[in-house]
Amino acid sequence: MPIRKDDTPPNRRFGIVNLVLIGVGVLLLVSSFLPNQGMQQVPRVPYSLFVSQVDDGNVRRAYITQEQIRYELKEAPAEGAPSVLATTPIFDMDLPKRLEEHGVEFAAAPPQKPSFITTALSWIVPPLIFILVLQFFARRSMGGAQGALSFTKSKAKVYVPDEESRVTFADVAGVDEAKQELTEIVDFLKTPERYTAIGARIPKGVLLVGPPGTGKTLLSKAVAGEAGVPFFIISGSEFVELFVGAGAARVRDLFEEAKKKAPCIIFIDELDAIGKSRAGSMGVVGGNDEREQTLNQLLTEMDGFAAKDKPVIVLAATNQPETLDAALLRPGRFDRQVLVDRPDLSGRKTILDIYARKVKLAPGVDLDKIAQATSGFAGADLANLVNEGALLAARSKRTSVEQGDLNEAIERVVAGLEKKSRVLQPDEKKVVAYHEVGHAIVGHLMPGGSKVAKISIVPRGMAALGYTLQLPTEERFLNSKEDLEGQIATLLGGRSAEEIVFGAVTTGAANDLQRATDIAEQMVGTYGMSDVLGPLAYDKQGGSRFLGGGNNPRRVVSDATAQAIDKEVRTLVDRAHDRALSILHHNRDLLESISQQILEKEVIEGDDLKNLLASSVMPEEAVAIA
Ligand code: ADP
Ligand code: MG
Ligand code: ZN
Repeated sequence: MPIRKDDTPPNRRFGIVNLVLIGVGVLLLVSSFLPNQGMQQVPRVPYSLFVSQVDDGNVRRAYITQEQIRYELKEAPAEGAPSVLATTPIFDMDLPKRLEEHGVEFAAAPPQKPSFITTALSWIVPPLIFILVLQFFARRSMGGAQGALSFTKSKAKVYVPDEESRVTFADVAGVDEAKQELTEIVDFLKTPERYTAIGARIPKGVLLVGPPGTGKTLLSKAVAGEAGVPFFIISGSEFVELFVGAGAARVRDLFEEAKKKAPCIIFIDELDAIGKSRAGSMGVVGGNDEREQTLNQLLTEMDGFAAKDKPVIVLAATNQPETLDAALLRPGRFDRQVLVDRPDLSGRKTILDIYARKVKLAPGVDLDKIAQATSGFAGADLANLVNEGALLAARSKRTSVEQGDLNEAIERVVAGLEKKSRVLQPDEKKVVAYHEVGHAIVGHLMPGGSKVAKISIVPRGMAALGYTLQLPTEERFLNSKEDLEGQIATLLGGRSAEEIVFGAVTTGAANDLQRATDIAEQMVGTYGMSDVLGPLAYDKQGGSRFLGGGNNPRRVVSDATAQAIDKEVRTLVDRAHDRALSILHHNRDLLESISQQILEKEVIEGDDLKNLLASSVMPEEAVAIA
C-alpha cells in the first residue's frame, strides 16, 4: 500500500518563513547604506584638546549629540586647517558651565528616536530566531519534513486502500481464529447501520495479542483493506516524546483526524509503550508523567467518540498484554482481545504457499517438508525463509528455487547467517563435536517424538558454535512428563559428553543449562508435574507467556514450599543429568566414532546419521528413573 502523509504540504509553511527572512535581509541591507543622520565626516580630536580650546576661548559654537560633539573654532590653528572639529563626548557634568563661561554658543540634539527600521528589526529578529531554533528542534525530533511548531501533530500515516495494493484476508494465513473475529469488525465498518438498528454497541477497541512477527500489523491492514476504509497507523512509542503533554496532544490530534475520515481504523502498534500499568511505575520517583498523560488522553478519546453510523475502530497490538493498564481493558475500550499466535503445521503450510507463489519454485519442491521443519516459526520468519531461499538460488545462478535452497534457508533463519569468517581452533572444534554428538545420542534415545535430523559443527550466527537439529515427527500440543524429562536430558547431553570425554566442562553449555532449568521449573511450577509438590501452580499466571517465560513471579508461598520447589527443580535436572551420563557411558564407542566422523565432515545428516544412531543402546538404568 502506498504510504501517504496526510498533512498540509510542508512547502507552504516554508514559503512563509523564507519570505519573512528575505524581507529582514533587505531591511538590514538598506539600513546599512542610509547616511548616518546628516553627520558629515569631520576630523576627530581628543576631548582634552576640545576642553583646552574652549578654555582658550577659541570655540565659537558646539553641537552636542550622544555620539559626538561637533564644534567650530573661531580661527583655525593653521592656514588651511579645518575649523570644524569633532570629539567624542565623555560624561562631564561641568561641560555646560564651562561652555557658558567661555561664551560658546551651544546646543544639544534631542534624544535620538530610534529609527523605524531599528524598531522594526528589534521586534522581528528575536522572535524569528526563536522560531527558527524551535523549528530546528522540531524537525530533528520528528525526523521528517514537517514544518514549524507541529509537535502536537500526530505522526500517524494514513493508508487509503486502493484496488491493486490492498491487503486482504487472503494475504494472511495460519491465524484463522483471529481472522474470524476480525471478520466481524469488517462487517461493523461496512454496515454499521445493521448493528446500530438493533441497538448493538459497536466495539471501539480490539487488542491483537501475540508474539512478534505473527502478522498483527498485517491483519489490521487487512481489516482496513476488506472494509475499504482509511487506516491510520502509528506506533505507541511515537506518542512518548520529548515534551510533557506532546503525546496527549498527539492523541487528540489523531482522533480529530480520524473522526474526519470516519468510518476508519486507527492502528496503534506497540500499545504497551503508552499503556503500561500505572501501578507498576508508582515507585519511580517523579513517575512517568508524560506516558501517563498520554494514556489518560487515549482513554478519554476512546470514551468520547461515539458517532453511531461513523465508527472509528481502534485496533492495537502488543506482545506484552500482561503489562497493560487495567483501565485499557475495560468495557468500551479494548474490551476485545484477539490472540494472534504462531501458526501450527497446516498454518505454516498455507503461509509458505502464499510466499512460494511469489517466487519461482522448481517442480517437485515439497513445502510440507519445510512446514514440518519450521515448528515455532512465526509468519514473518516464514516469509523471510522463502526470500532467503530465493536469494540462495539466485546466488548460485539458478532460475528457480529448489528444495535444497529452502532447507539451507531454514538453517539460516534458525541459527543466523553462516559465519564463514569465524574459524574454531582445532581443540575447540573437538569439544564442540563431542558436545553436539552427546546431544544427538541422548536425543535419539529419549522419548518425545523428536528425531535427530542433523548434527553440525559449522559455526553459525553469534552464539551457536554447533548445533543438533531435532525435528518433531508430528505436531505436538501436549507434552507428557516423560517427554519433558527427555528434553532436559537431551539438553544436558552436550555437557555430559564433555564431562565424560574431557573430564571438564566449558562455557559452551550455558544456553543448554538455561533451557533445561526453565523446563524443569515449568514442570514443577506451572504444570504441577512434581509428585512431591502436587498439582499446584506455583507460578503466577500471566508471566510473559510469549517471550519464553523466564521471569514468572512466583505465587506467594511459604519459605518451606519455596525450598521444596527449588529442591524439586534441582532433583529433576540432576536426574536428567545422570541419565544423560549413563547413556553416554554406555555408548562411549559410538560417541567416539560419530565425533571423529563429524570432525572430518563437519555435518552429518539424513540416512548417514540415522544409520549411525541406530546402533545406540539404551542402558537399563536410564530407561525410566522415577
Ligand atoms: P507483527 O505486527 O505481528 O509483529 P507483522 O504483521 O508486522 O507482524 O508481520 C511482518 C511480516 O511477516 C508481514 O508483513 C508479512 O509479510 C509476514 N507475515 C507475518 N505473519 C503472517 C501471516 N500470518 N500470514 C502471512 N504473512 C505473514
Ligand atoms: Mg507489527
Ligand atoms: Zn549444547
